[in-house]
Amino acid sequence: MSKSTALRKSLPRHVPETLVVHEIYESVQGESSFVGVPCTFVRLTGCNLRCRWCDTEHAFYEGTRRPWREVLADALTHATPLVELTGGEPLLQPAALPLMTALADAGRTVLLETSGERDIGAVDPRVHRIVDLKAPGSGEVARNHWDNVAHLGQRDEVKFVLADRADYEWARAVIREHDLAARAGHVLLSAVFGSLDPKDLVAWMLEDRVPARFQLQVHKHVWPAAARGV
Ligand code: SF4
Repeated sequence: MSKSTALRKSLPRHVPETLVVHEIYESVQGESSFVGVPCTFVRLTGCNLRCRWCDTEHAFYEGTRRPWREVLADALTHATPLVELTGGEPLLQPAALPLMTALADAGRTVLLETSGERDIGAVDPRVHRIVDLKAPGSGEVARNHWDNVAHLGQRDEVKFVLADRADYEWARAVIREHDLAARAGHVLLSAVFGSLDPKDLVAWMLEDRVPARFQLQVHKHVWPAAARGV
C-alpha cells in the first residue's frame, strides 16, 4: 500500500469536496528553511485566532468556495518547486488534507503554515509542517495545541514570532523543556516587525546559545508596504 493510499484510508470519512480560497499566487518563500525559494501560495480563508501582530487579517473573511480538485489543478499550473498552504489557518478546512496529499502525489514539495492551534496529526507525512508556537505577546498563548509536539519530525519546523524580551524568554524555556531542536528539523525565531529589534534577538540568541535559527520575514523587506499576493 502506498503512503498516500494509507493516508486516504486514515482521512475523516466525510471530507468536504470544497474549500474557501482567499488567493493563489507565486512569490518566494518569506520564512522557514526554504526562505527565498520560488513558491506557489494557496491561501485559505478564515482563522480562529486573533494574534495581535497578525499581518493577514484580509484572509479572515474574503474568499471563494471552490472544489479542492479545481484548486489542485490551479496550483499545478504554477511551475514552482514549492507549494505552500497558508492562511488564515488552513487546517480549519478538512479538504486541505486531500489537497496536500494530491500535491505531494503530483511531485511537489508541499509546505503547510499552521498556527499550532489545530491537531497536525492527520497531515500527510510528506508535507513539511511549519508549526507556530504562539508566545504570550501574541495574545493567543492559551491556544497552543501542545500535543502537536509529539507529532514533530525532522521534516517539520517550529516557528516562534516574538514581540519582546518576555516572549523570547518564554520561547527559550519552551525550546529547552520540549527539546525542540532534537524533535524538529528546524526551530525558527523571528521578531515582530516594528516591535522587537532583530539585533536584540540575535544578541540574546548568541548570549544564551539557543539551539534555533534566526529568521527575518523577507517579504516585509522586499515589499515593506501592506502588499497582498506577495
Ligand atoms: S494564526 Fe496566523 S492568520 Fe491567524 S490571527 Fe494569528 S497570525 Fe493571523
